[in-house]
Amino acid sequence: MATRTSLSNVFPLGSRLNERGRVEVGGCDTIELAKQFGTPAYVVAEDDVRARAQTFLSAGEGHDDFNVVFASKAFPCTAVLALFAQEGLWCDVASAGELHLALNAGYAAERIVMHGNAKSEAELSAALGVRVGLIVVDNSDELDRLERLTGAGAGEEAPQEVLIRVTPDVRGETHEKISTGQANSKFGFGMDEVQEAIERVRTIRGLSLQGLHAHVGSQLLELDPFRREVAEVARLGEFSVWDLGGGLGVPYTEAQPSPPTIEDYVGTLLSAAREHGMGAPGKRLLIEPGRALTANAGVTLYTVESVKRNVSTWVAVDGGMSDNLRPMLYGTSYEAHVADRFIGTTRCVIAGKHCESGDVIVRDALLDDPRPGDVIVTPATGAYGFAMASNYNGVPRPPVVFCKDDDARVVVRRESFEDLTARDVHRTLAEGCTHANRAGAHPGEHARGSECSQAGSAAGGARVSGVCDR
Ligand code: PLP
Repeated sequence: MATRTSLSNVFPLGSRLNERGRVEVGGCDTIELAKQFGTPAYVVAEDDVRARAQTFLSAGEGHDDFNVVFASKAFPCTAVLALFAQEGLWCDVASAGELHLALNAGYAAERIVMHGNAKSEAELSAALGVRVGLIVVDNSDELDRLERLTGAGAGEEAPQEVLIRVTPDVRGETHEKISTGQANSKFGFGMDEVQEAIERVRTIRGLSLQGLHAHVGSQLLELDPFRREVAEVARLGEFSVWDLGGGLGVPYTEAQPSPPTIEDYVGTLLSAAREHGMGAPGKRLLIEPGRALTANAGVTLYTVESVKRNVSTWVAVDGGMSDNLRPMLYGTSYEAHVADRFIGTTRCVIAGKHCESGDVIVRDALLDDPRPGDVIVTPATGAYGFAMASNYNGVPRPPVVFCKDDDARVVVRRESFEDLTARDVHRTLAEGCTHANRAGAHPGEHARGSECSQAGSAAGGARVSGVCDR
């Protein structure tokens, strides 16, 4: 039985163990959430998301034109995007799809920053078409495209404002897959090429160069790389806009070294900017946090399906790499707890349900006598989990549930089996089929050829699941 009531900073702000010893997020009991919405489920504490946005904004109040641009790749969910739009943030998009999501969520086009190292002509046209606030130019081929596209309408409208992405050859301590500032990076212009790019952009009538952008990497737990980044890009000239990227790290486990606070991070950037001449009044400073805004606002709930013991104790749950790829991609450590027996001493491996031995969510969890039916909570899953989710093994993607003041609401529904076949082009709609589908939640019409719990009943009398033939 748990003896503590407060939870570490890995959990959403305001999380606690309630009177029944159960993990509570956003005022909601996670065992009740699992009953109501099923598992796996992404649960987000709404107040936490807002609070982090406000902390970023107030940390930057010392500069008159400081803007926080949410890196939408971290949690590209309309409700999350809309919440940040309401809080006054801008939005960073890295594809036409993310641009669509941002516009749909309510961002004014002038508050959107368009990224990407391989922007297609169609993506650039979409960004130019709505006149995004800034396009961040990554390479010379993109400049060719922009020159062509803006040349077509030259003279008719104001030039598109752009930044040039610079790779400042600054490395922070992080996983190589999310390190971007080193010289040998797929992103941006190298320090030796950037002057040429600056001069070239200035010759293109349809573009207006506002400044430079750099992003040295993600999940950075020290401030020094940010200072070095500012010092490096400041050497490149005088500009009116500086976008310093994202990258502030977050706590994934209590045992991990603590990241700097949002206030320290923003304070460091602002003082480095002032020191290097980019923080003068009238200069626009942008930062692009993703993970630091959402990671710790979310937890994932799973249900234990089986517990088996060989060399290790294997606790298999009903999700895995289809809802959280990060442990497999980057070797990230997460915590896991039984939602109503928080403190445990049995060392367990939390395995996912997918057909890969590498589908392990937590290698080293200390659980209290785990058993089938237990609800497991993994904190700090609010960034890049939803974004990288898949249907591997035909597993429908989980819902997103917002919690606030003991009130829970679904903002993205769970995928159904019908969603799994929704893009098939050969299907014909089954007219009049009233079979309940196997997810149970959506009785009514479904597609011929989709999974149906009663497909066999007409033929043989027995109810066997299969493919609907009506
Ligand atoms: N900005 C750019 C250009 C990025 O590539 C990324 C992450 O890939 C971010 C911002 C957000 O990074 P983080 O989530 O680490 O803050």
